[in-house]
Amino acid sequence: MRKPIFLKIFTGYLLIAIAITGITTAVSFKIIRSFYIDTTARNLENLSVPIMLTISPLWDRGRFSEMEDLVKRLESPIQARITVLNTEGIVLADSEKDPKTLESHLSRPEVASAIQGKIGRSIRYSTTIKKDMLYVALPVQQDGMTKGVIRLSVPLHDIDVMLAEIQDHILKVFFAVIVISLFVALIFTHILASPIRKMKEASKKVAQGNFKEKVAIKGNDELSDLAKSFNEMTIQLEASFSEISKNKEELESIVSSISEGLFLLDKQGRIILFNNSAKKITKTDAIAKKYYWEVLRSHKITEILSEKEKDNVVEEITLDDKVYLCSITPLTGGRTILLLHDITEMKKMEDLKRDLVANVSHELRTPLTAIMGFTETLLEDADDKNKEYLSIIKRHTDRLINLIQDLLNLSELEEKGFRIIIEQVDVKSLIENIMTIFEPKVREKGLDFSINASGPMLINADPFRLEQLFTNLIDNAIKYTEKGKISVNMEMRQEKAVIKVQDTGIGISKDNLSRIFERFYVVDKSRSRSLGGTGLGLAIAKHVVSLHEGILEVESTPYMGTTFIVTLPVKAKT
Ligand code: ADP
Repeated sequence: MRKPIFLKIFTGYLLIAIAITGITTAVSFKIIRSFYIDTTARNLENLSVPIMLTISPLWDRGRFSEMEDLVKRLESPIQARITVLNTEGIVLADSEKDPKTLESHLSRPEVASAIQGKIGRSIRYSTTIKKDMLYVALPVQQDGMTKGVIRLSVPLHDIDVMLAEIQDHILKVFFAVIVISLFVALIFTHILASPIRKMKEASKKVAQGNFKEKVAIKGNDELSDLAKSFNEMTIQLEASFSEISKNKEELESIVSSISEGLFLLDKQGRIILFNNSAKKITKTDAIAKKYYWEVLRSHKITEILSEKEKDNVVEEITLDDKVYLCSITPLTGGRTILLLHDITEMKKMEDLKRDLVANVSHELRTPLTAIMGFTETLLEDADDKNKEYLSIIKRHTDRLINLIQDLLNLSELEEKGFRIIIEQVDVKSLIENIMTIFEPKVREKGLDFSINASGPMLINADPFRLEQLFTNLIDNAIKYTEKGKISVNMEMRQEKAVIKVQDTGIGISKDNLSRIFERFYVVDKSRSRSLGGTGLGLAIAKHVVSLHEGILEVESTPYMGTTFIVTLPVKAKT
């Protein structure tokens, strides 16, 4: 429930007034009462001495009835009941009652203490008079011995009457305090609440976006400081707000101008932001709040989105006969940015290029084979001079044929829908077979060669492609090694065949290492050319390995040697 400031302050005032008045009343009542009782008791003590002296002669002579008459006469002038008792507590004379009707007073605390020789005081409710009574008892002594007790008592009724009167006054003061409190609270609340109200109104307007609103509070107190801070805050808010709006506008124009289709998805996959290109891709304007699968019909997107824990995934997808590069970037709060970049034209160009290379290579192969055949025939009968020219023609034709063959191989591997033909292959015997072809070259260069395997290396793979792969790696190892040895080490490691082709050749520098798998990339052009290289061998090797879902890595130290590490799954996916 809402409680206005006024009510809060007033309730506070009222509670304080009640507490102060209540405590003051209770404490003063207590003090007044005990002061009154004390004074009355002391008066009674003082009075008892002359009474004692007056009754003593009668007591000494045992004239108790006369003593009783005397105390009865004394009662009215001193306005106190007088009782005379012996040390057994037997009443000898009483100003109000017949002593014979009274029981022993030995149990009364004031009497008991007077018999002990001390002044006794007690406040009790008297069943005889039916009032609260103050009793004061003094010992009556003779020759240092207590011979009896004289007790004076008065009702406490008077003090209660007096206290009731005081209470009356206090109540009046109490009401006066409350009325004054209410009045002060009213004025004080008004003074305090008016700037607060101003501030409330101003903050309401600021919350509605009106940053021009300012609060004017005079004075030099906390409230005026608060108003100053409030005004500074609105200035800063206005600045930040306009900065944010500007950034937002900029961002919006950037988003709408980019050619990629942009979709911002929430945690549930609903499109919460998109641009013009996104509308073109989905061929609809009504994208907002729709689930992405309602407008982008591709299972691949769902697959990629489910992988989004991996930061920034980029994959190719096909949508309505168009190819897109789909990039997914996860944001905080489960949101995701989905970008679709149309690469259809680029893909078409790539296909055209590949087809062109394949067709040209194919067309060139036949004439080149013919040239090679005739050159070899001519070489048989040529004289020395012509032999030299013909050898040059043969070497270049050879290079061209190699190049054409590598290009054809690469185009075949890159062809859409190309599938490897999986069967069981023993990698060890496959490499042994390859080595028989290279044996003359190895011997000619004086290199050592070894194959090390713990046992048969049976894996599921395409034997023809594996042959291409290892032929390229071993050919390179021999080409780029002048002395030392070439070794092929293989082992089975957790459902994977790991084959290392190692040489002690010229090695590859760190800068070149990352590029050697690129097409036509060669470290040393003239050396590669003279060795009959095409720069396509490793590109083919990499392709073959990835078609088998394996990994091809390289480690190399210049002038020390190079190791190519092929890791192939034992059970390749068909
Ligand atoms: P190339 O037909 O020229 O050998 P590759 O694609 O097979 O083309 O190799 C690319 C380049 O990588 C080579 O030109 C060579 O510089 C380097 N390279 C490949 N294998 C080795 C190796 N075993 N030792 C040193 N360099 C190598």
